[in-house]
Order: sequence, then C-alpha cells, then structure tokens
Amino acid sequence: MKYHDAMFIDGSWRPAAGRETIDVLNPADEQIIGRVPAGSEQDVDDAVRAARAALPGWAATPPAERAARLTALRDQLAARKEEIARTITAELGAPLGFSTAVQAGAPIVVAGSYAELAASYSFEEKIGNSTVLLEPVGVVGAITPWNYPLHQIVAKVAPALAAGCTVVLKPAEDTPLTAQLFAECVAAAEVPAGVFNLVTGLGPVAGQALAAHEGVDLVSFTGSTAVGKRIGALAGAAVKPVALELGGKSANVILPGADLAEAVGAGVANVMANTGQTCSAWTRMLVHADQYEEAVALAAEAVDRYTPGDPTDAESRMGPLVSAKQRDRVRGYIERGISEGARLVAGGPDAPEGREKGYYVRPTVFADVTPDMTIAQEEIFGPVISVLRYRDEEEAVRIANGTVYGLAGAVWAADRDEAVAFARKLETGQVDINGGRFNLLAPFGGYKQSGVGRELGAHGLGEYLQTKSLQF
Ligand code: NAD
Repeated sequence: MKYHDAMFIDGSWRPAAGRETIDVLNPADEQIIGRVPAGSEQDVDDAVRAARAALPGWAATPPAERAARLTALRDQLAARKEEIARTITAELGAPLGFSTAVQAGAPIVVAGSYAELAASYSFEEKIGNSTVLLEPVGVVGAITPWNYPLHQIVAKVAPALAAGCTVVLKPAEDTPLTAQLFAECVAAAEVPAGVFNLVTGLGPVAGQALAAHEGVDLVSFTGSTAVGKRIGALAGAAVKPVALELGGKSANVILPGADLAEAVGAGVANVMANTGQTCSAWTRMLVHADQYEEAVALAAEAVDRYTPGDPTDAESRMGPLVSAKQRDRVRGYIERGISEGARLVAGGPDAPEGREKGYYVRPTVFADVTPDMTIAQEEIFGPVISVLRYRDEEEAVRIANGTVYGLAGAVWAADRDEAVAFARKLETGQVDINGGRFNLLAPFGGYKQSGVGRELGAHGLGEYLQTKSLQF
C-alpha cells in the first residue's frame, strides 16, 4: 500500500518532528500494510500555526471560490473512488462492495453538497434594523474515528472549508492511510496552503494536544463517549464551542401492525453493515410480545446470510472488525450477554469457523434481553443484536428511551401517521420511518449523551459559523 512517511502541513508533505511511528494493520490477515508518523505536540503546534496563518485569507475568499475548490475536491474523490475503497477495505476490513458504495461513495455526495451550499448559502441576514453576518468560527481541530474513515473526515472538513474556516485533522490511528489519500485530494483540488492540515498520531498524544491547543477555536470530535466527555470538558474550561458526535444504542421499534419480515430483515441488515461498527446502528430490536418468537426466528435466519469472509471477495457481506482490541471488546460483550442470562440464538463468542486469523467475530443475535442488561445499555460496536420484548406502546417508548444515548432509530407501523406519532416520543436525533433511506443532507447528531451539534447539510454548515450583528 502506498503511504507517506510525513505530515501534510502548510500545503506540503514534511517530516514529523519526532521519530515515533504507527504500524497500520490489515485486520483480515493481521499483516502490516503501512507505517505513518505518530505526531507529537510539536507537529500539532506547527499545523495549528499554519492553519491560523491561512485563516484570514481563506475567510475572506469569496464563497464562490470556496465552492469551486470544494467542487474540485469532490471531483478528486470521485476520480480516486476505487483506490479509496481498496484502501478502506485494507485498513478497516469493510467488504469491498460496501467500501465502494458507502465508504467511498457517500463522501463524494457530501463534498458536492457543501460545494453547492458554499455557493448558495446566505452568509448574511436582515433582522429589523440589523444585518447579521455569519462568519467562520476560525481554526477547527477535527478528530475522527476509524469506522467511516473518509465520511467522518469529509463531514467535518467540507462544511468547515465552506464556512471559511481552516482545519487541522487528527484521524484515527487505525485508518490513517485513508486520511493521507484525502490530503492528496485536497492538494490536487488546489485548496490554498495551510487551509487543510493533517497530523497523524495517537489519541492521547496528538489528539489531546489538538483538543487542548489555544490556537484552535472549535473542536469537532467523533468517537467514543468517554473521550468526547474529556474533549467537552476541555472546551468548556476554555469557553470554546465544541461539536461531539458520540456513541449510540439505537432502537428499532416494530409496532404490531408493521410488516414483520421486512422490519426484521431491514433491522438485521442495518446492524450487520460495516460489521456492526456504525454509531447509528439499530442494535436494539423492540418487538411486541405477541410477535416476539416469530421475530427472533426471522432475525436468527436473516443473520445466516452474513457469513464473515475475506473483505476483498465480492461475495463477502461481512469482514473482520477493525482491530484485535475491538474484536476482544465485542467478544467480551457477547460473553457478558450469556452470563447475564440472555438467550443466544445465533453466533457466539468464538471465532467463526475457518477465520481464526484476522479479527473476525460471528454475527450474533440475543433474545430474552431485558432493558437492564449490559448488552441492552452499552454500545458494543460489533455485529450483535439484542431483541427486547414490550407489552404495550408505553413500555416500548420507555425501553426505547431508556439508555444514556439518543442518536438514531427506526419505527415500523401499519401506516405512516402511527409511526410518526411514535417517533415524536423518541429522544433521538434521527428516526427512519418504515424503512426511510439515509439522507446525506439531513441533520445528523445526538440527543442526550450521543452528542452535541449536528453534521451534514445546512445544519452542519451552521456549526462552523458564528454571528455578528450590525445595527443601522
Ligand atoms: P476513541 O474515542 O478512542 O477514538 C476516536 C478518535 O479520538 C481517534 O482519532 C483517537 O485517536 C482520538 N482520541 C483518543 N483519545 C483521545 C484523547 N484523549 N484526546 C483527543 N483525542 C483522542 O474511540 P476508539 O477507541 O477508536 O473506539 C472505542 C469505542 O468508541 C468503540 O467501541 C465505539 O463504541 C466508540 N466509537 C464510536 C464512534 C462513533 O462514530 N460514534 C466511532 C468510533 C468508536
């Protein structure tokens, strides 16, 4: 795999300040496929200085020109789609079909949407005798995870650039090669030097230094709730805005009148995609007591279609998890489910047959899960579904809202009005009604401990703007 032994700072690839490196592994065969610098405080400081120096020029660049650079970035991402998909499959383990369609495909759409928004957005509004200017927040520190490595980068960098902000990105240590490809695309799109900077490195070192840096005006973080809380605390102490996109434990609520087979099938597909490593996955399936056993049987049967296999094989619908750490974590949760008394109806903690090498786990379904169990409360981040039973609508609402999270969810009902009425009672940032498709322009983000702020579309752009009112 091609990679840079360098940081992308101030428009060029330059050696890191220190000599520490990070090995990048292919989770399907545990082989090293790359080695990138592990950035230090010094590298972060250099990158933030470059971003600060570039800020006045970029903030003053007409929105139409910012839009032109974003269009060029979109075109670069589109031209290199296959290479990006192969890189994501190599370092994350997502099946190639999924990497191509979703992991590499969605960011092209998102970058394009911000090219259009930069050109059409009204960066000024009139309120009575005031003109309100919507100005860039400043230098953005973006810290991203590995599960949708390019999407999460583009969902921060594209709106930040559209707003007129400059950026320092610290991507996840498991997937830095995708981030390097993105930096190449930014350079090829002729975004001015210093507007976008990349520092690879470890979370507690480079990530921490970026989150705490005085020269950063806003930190936008996606990842675990534990780290998100620390970043939120740092921002609070410095009186800086922060955007946090954290974990989830979303409910897939199947009301009695719904098409049960469709709802269960879609629910299983939703969790198994990306090998269960999706923050918005509907990992709790809520089914009425009268239909419970039928739903459990349908879910166990549906999971059979997701045999873990080589992610480069076109037939594979499920690859390995990203790392040994994640595999061990997910297996630990499966063991916990069994020990707390849930009924294992598919999968289990052992490695899938013939897949002892690589970080594979078995797609797993638990029945007889009660709301107090660990597997019903904590984010597992693997291909594990918990099926819970409810007796009436009120109990379904209580269970659905009964976690610290509130990122996504689904409601299936006989008709749209019934589903919408239920969705209004959910404490969550997104609800898909009777299989509604993901919308890359709709605000995405969490209620409760799933986060602060929204990404995507015009709402996502608003995160990177601050207002100034002029009175006449
Ligand atoms: P993480 O939160 O540790 O990592 C996310 C990003 O934060 C990475 O870039 C990491 O380097 C950085 N980071 C880590 N510690 C930091 C610190 N002290 N200061 C600043 N930045 C820091 O997540 P993880 O360990 O990769 O995954 C653990 C769990 O997090 C997963 O099992 C899952 O539950 C959750 N997760 C959620 C999402 C999501 O999209 N919401 C994504 C990835 C992981």
